[in-house]
Amino acid sequence: MSNLSYVTPHADSPWQTYLSQVDRVLPYLGSLAKWGETLKRPKRALIVDVPIELDNGTVRHFEGYRVQHNLSRGPGKGGVRYHPDVTLEEVMALSAWMTIKCAGVGLPYGGAKGGIRVDPKALSMKELERMTRRYTSEIGIIIGPQRDIPAPDVNTNGQIMAWMMDTYSMNTGSTATGVVTGKPIHLGGSLGRVKATGRGVFVTGREAARRINLNLDGARIAVQGMGNVGSSAAELFVQAGAKLVAVQDHTGTLVNPNGFDMADTMEVLKRDGGIANYKNAERIDNEAFWDVDCDILIPAALEGQITAARANRLKAKLVLEGANGPTLPDADDVMHDRGILVVPDVICNAGGVTVSYFEWVQDFSSFFWSEDEINVRLDKIMVDALRHIYETSEKHKITLRTATFAVACERILIAREERGLYP
Ligand code: NAD
Repeated sequence: MSNLSYVTPHADSPWQTYLSQVDRVLPYLGSLAKWGETLKRPKRALIVDVPIELDNGTVRHFEGYRVQHNLSRGPGKGGVRYHPDVTLEEVMALSAWMTIKCAGVGLPYGGAKGGIRVDPKALSMKELERMTRRYTSEIGIIIGPQRDIPAPDVNTNGQIMAWMMDTYSMNTGSTATGVVTGKPIHLGGSLGRVKATGRGVFVTGREAARRINLNLDGARIAVQGMGNVGSSAAELFVQAGAKLVAVQDHTGTLVNPNGFDMADTMEVLKRDGGIANYKNAERIDNEAFWDVDCDILIPAALEGQITAARANRLKAKLVLEGANGPTLPDADDVMHDRGILVVPDVICNAGGVTVSYFEWVQDFSSFFWSEDEINVRLDKIMVDALRHIYETSEKHKITLRTATFAVACERILIAREERGLYP
């Protein structure tokens, strides 16, 4: 349990999950473990009040956060989430996973994350813009192209990044495209960014499948969450010959053992924003999703989805964590004991931040790459990172999650030690 006064300990919270993941890796860090406490507390956590005038003339206040978990290896990097359930603790956990993720793939960033406690669907576009601009202005004291670079996360997108970039630029007096990533293409965004996370899930999944002799051609995949990450990953697996046999999203759970038609699926998602009205599949109870016969399971929606009880029921041989924090620590143990290979979020969904890094580099050099160049570079970075993590897991006989933490924490703590403790 955490000893930070501003954290309320409750066992399955994302921050507690993160802390127990750190505890698992400390024995593998040798003398660097003496810096372990560094990983267990955010460097900086800013809570901001975001008051805006609603369209009806009244004023409403929202609670916003920006947490910089660790900046030993470079400026902070991490998305901004708009959700009514966002809490400081959740943002802390997400920022910490960004620290691990950036170090695990070798990007020159620390970890950060932001969020506002709001249901954005209840706001008009103008209200959303005012809230985004005020939030950006409030966190403007700690973000910047060399300090901390936000990006989209749940319920934020390219338009919101454009408003953030513009607000920061207005406040500082010069256009600063590098202050956020995930921007629209003509504002310094990068080709390939939108689908990058799903592509990374596919690349790490392809490599992991090869290692356990699972042929992608004909492999059956089940996906929870057909948003940006889940649908992009599913499309690439289907292109590689796999069959999408089950889909769950906020509108329900559908199965078809013969495979969903990908073009129809994408059309339904585009039209309705959910899978419920897809015709050629059977609707099942939501909980039955975890019993579906499949080879690869891709949780790509929410945190805390794979509990120990559900882990005991899974039929999949391979779990690819597209979402952040979908697995609880005791479920990790169950899957390990059952021989289910889990590619953890901290490497599996790192494709998004990798192409964000490409975007930032392109913004600084004002020279933009083709989509092919981006995809080839992304593929290489993900393959190399996974290979190193795999070797570490085999060397110490540990899970890929603990191995990713081992690789990442070693890099973070070496940087910590080399920089020295200020003053
Ligand atoms: P999104 O908003 O595009 O999609 C979310 C999906 O989850 C939707 O299909 C939605 O229907 C589904 N969902 C919501 N509530 C659900 C419920 N109760 N049961 C089942 N499904 C539900 O979000 P996204 O960008 O695809 O992100 C999904 C996950 O991936 C999040 O955990 C996010 O942090 C993580 N992630 C995203 C990126 C990125 O680049 N977008 C990068 C890294 C990690």
